[in-house]
Amino acid sequence: MIRKLLRRVFKRGEPSPHPVEIIPAKEHGIRPEGVSPGARRTCETLQQAGHRAYVVGGAVRDLIAGIEPKDYDVATDATPDQVRALFRRSRIIGRRFQIVHVLFGQETIEVSTFRAAHDENTEKDEHGRVLRDNVWGSMEDDAARRDFTVNALYYDPSSGEVFDYHHGVRDLQRKTLRMIGDPRARYREDPVRMLRAIRLSAKLDLRLDPQVQAPIREMAELIENVPAARLFDEMLKLLFSGHAVESLHRLRGEGLHHGLLPLLDVILEQPLGEKFVMLSLADTDQRVRAGKRTSPGFLFATLLWHEVLANWEARKKRDELPVPALHAAMDEVLDTQGEKLAITRRTAGYITEIWVLQPRFEKRGGRAPFRLVEQPRFRAAWDFLHLRAASGEAPQELADWWRDFQLADNDAREAMLRPDTGPKKRRRRKSRKPGDAGTVSPAPSFDGEG
Ligand code: ATP
Ligand code: MG
Repeated sequence: MIRKLLRRVFKRGEPSPHPVEIIPAKEHGIRPEGVSPGARRTCETLQQAGHRAYVVGGAVRDLIAGIEPKDYDVATDATPDQVRALFRRSRIIGRRFQIVHVLFGQETIEVSTFRAAHDENTEKDEHGRVLRDNVWGSMEDDAARRDFTVNALYYDPSSGEVFDYHHGVRDLQRKTLRMIGDPRARYREDPVRMLRAIRLSAKLDLRLDPQVQAPIREMAELIENVPAARLFDEMLKLLFSGHAVESLHRLRGEGLHHGLLPLLDVILEQPLGEKFVMLSLADTDQRVRAGKRTSPGFLFATLLWHEVLANWEARKKRDELPVPALHAAMDEVLDTQGEKLAITRRTAGYITEIWVLQPRFEKRGGRAPFRLVEQPRFRAAWDFLHLRAASGEAPQELADWWRDFQLADNDAREAMLRPDTGPKKRRRRKSRKPGDAGTVSPAPSFDGEG
């Protein structure tokens, strides 16, 4: 347990209405070596120039919880221009509320000036959603406008102390997600906080405080007023949090899954593909947690695959030729879902590349396998096949064969070849070189997009 009120901080000689708890390192447990060098340097440089500067938000929360932060934010009383002037590799971004990106090698530290809490002058839409949040304030104001107590912690790398205005460290230790202020009012200001509550509770295995949880069901529809791009970003964060499966489970539990989130509807409303989609999300979780690369394109390819399959089957039943039918099915699915999911042309290209290689895995004779392993998307397409096999939609033996083929040398590959068992070949106008006749589809063009 933390000892209460170690010191009180006074603001301009007046007693602060929100006494701050200053928690020493031995009580919060953050080791300085665990903090990114870039974030430490940023704070030191600002402090040496006479400013206040702290690591803030999710990074402090994660460090205390023993999780490696994925990025670092710094909060300061320096203005963006003052910050910019102190770091050679930095740039100001944003127009309405400027923040500064400070670059250290691969790392980007996001530095923002303390912001004021909302007042009667804050601009809101007709549902009470805050439209602008662009007035500078004190550190205490800055803490009060953050969403959850565990997100309003300020770590000073120089002293090792954590400044805690809302008992965030206590809540983190008690594994409770508690809102700063009245949860209903805070959801009205920004309905995305409902999604953040679920995502953070899944990530940190926190219990939702009853007051945080209770209004979600009845206020859920406010999410409809949030701009689509913002929701989409939030859903991406959720899917790539390393806790997507758990987050979806909790979203369902809180009734946040119907009609509100187009991306989620795509995921949850496919009875046929549910097992596949869940496996894919579990796989993404594992990759994120192991620090491996992930791509939205690959995940979207899995989310939409069963729609493509259904569409393709229907076309084949109408006697369309398999390969053109697959292309038509892909186009139709991407057209209808692409907009909802904000899939860019570039990502759509990548998704198509993965899909179009799937039937080609069935060709295990002739030269086709040799050409397939050389495709730039072979590895992604094989990962995809592997998931299909795990879900029972493709034979496991096929995925294993391709794994072995990939690893084998040339002689071993020749010995592995099989008489053709793939889909019926299409008649070609011109035959290619001998041994090439078994190819089903004309090799799609790969231009390395994505
Ligand atoms: P993570 O980075 O693990 O996804 P995070 O809490 O750091 O989680 P960010 O989106 O990086 O999330 O936000 C950084 C900080 O900004 C938060 O910790 C919180 O203090 C504040 N913040 C973010 N979104 C909101 C919001 N909708 N309302 C109030 N404060 C917010
Ligand atoms: Mg963050």
